[in-house]
Amino acid sequence: MSLEKAFIRKERKCPACGGHHAIRYPDPKFYTAVARESDLHVTTYRWSQAVLEGIVPHYYAVWQCPECLFADFTEKIESPEGSFKEEYLVDAFKNISGEKLKILNKLRELVPQGETDYKGAVALHLAALWVASLPDTERIDHYRLGRLALRLAWLFRERAGGRETEHSESGPLSRLHESTALLENRIATLTEAVIEARAAAVDRSAELGIPAEGGENPYAPVVASLSDKLEELDILLIMFQSAVAQDDRGDFSLPPQPSEEPPTDLDGFLKSIKQLWPEIPLREGLCLRMAVDAFEYCFNHETSFQSIEKSMVILGLIIEMLMRINQYERALRFIAEIYKSGLENKQELQRRIGDSRRSRSLRTHDEQMLYRKIATINMAIRQAGKNKRRIIEVLLEKHKQVIEKVLAEKKRDDVHVKARALLQAGVPDAVVQELKTRKKIS
Ligand SMILES: [Zn+2]
Repeated sequence: MSLEKAFIRKERKCPACGGHHAIRYPDPKFYTAVARESDLHVTTYRWSQAVLEGIVPHYYAVWQCPECLFADFTEKIESPEGSFKEEYLVDAFKNISGEKLKILNKLRELVPQGETDYKGAVALHLAALWVASLPDTERIDHYRLGRLALRLAWLFRERAGGRETEHSESGPLSRLHESTALLENRIATLTEAVIEARAAAVDRSAELGIPAEGGENPYAPVVASLSDKLEELDILLIMFQSAVAQDDRGDFSLPPQPSEEPPTDLDGFLKSIKQLWPEIPLREGLCLRMAVDAFEYCFNHETSFQSIEKSMVILGLIIEMLMRINQYERALRFIAEIYKSGLENKQELQRRIGDSRRSRSLRTHDEQMLYRKIATINMAIRQAGKNKRRIIEVLLEKHKQVIEKVLAEKKRDDVHVKARALLQAGVPDAVVQELKTRKKIS
């Protein structure tokens, strides 16, 4: 069998320039995905013919117009949704500036004339990601963006030999990430406290009959200074976060030795694009973070993600990705979300089944559908429970020394004091709860 027979080839109109071009991708009837990772990355394909074994189907997930360089998922070119989001995408692309087009031109240099190879696949995915990020925030298709970023993460993971590249992140850098999260958390608590203090001071002044503002009020200047300091803290936090983000992107790493020759290897080439596109995600961890943010946006802002099945799937995926980049505490928050909305939805579905049975209005087909929804929720909750246990073990190990130290200091205190001291020492709430359950603090 010739290699070409394994491909589907169709003529399609480019949504941006209107030119007619071929789309081409491996025919799914010749292969099956036989092994997947927790974030859906296919690691092994089985082909029906040995001659086809070198083909990597997911390299072909993105198509790029050879004429105008518009890039998107091949499946969307094959059968466009005709949605507003797609219109926004094309509109934003048509208004692209010369500078922004330069990025697509540079990336195109990596796409080979013949069969798509690893380099070409990375370049095509980056091109589609760039195009997808062109519209204004509220017009971006965040789900598209998240899926592209996730697929790009898989490609970078493959280059690292299937290992998770994030594991090469330096210890201090991963601590910086944790500190940002901790600071953010603490500043939020502090803000609440200051707001409460301000309200109480106003009430007390009224009670005493002192004017709320001015020299006679002893609370006013102190409370005002506290608010100022908080604002400063907020700004400093943002500065700190953006410094860590820049470090993450490799901006602080020593630049490669300048050479006269243009860079030939993939890394060098992509780094040269960084001058035009500073946020270009060139590591698995960065791509996963981008995907998490995009999916979180969908979950919070898009009504289509409010359906039970879709929200369970997207939350599950977010958790898997966060675990890969060691953001365990953030993952715990999403796990809590699965429990909460899962249980609420389950109760509602059970109530509907009960009501309809009593009134005998439910048809078998509808009943089966409701049971299927309940099964989906149960599965998501089970998976979340499994992940939660894994995360708790990791966090217990990570905070082991702090926990031992605090518990030794508070040996004679009661459980509430111990719990509070642990939280204050930065031990996550879920871990403190687990210690209570295990009777490690009593
Ligand atoms: Zn085109």
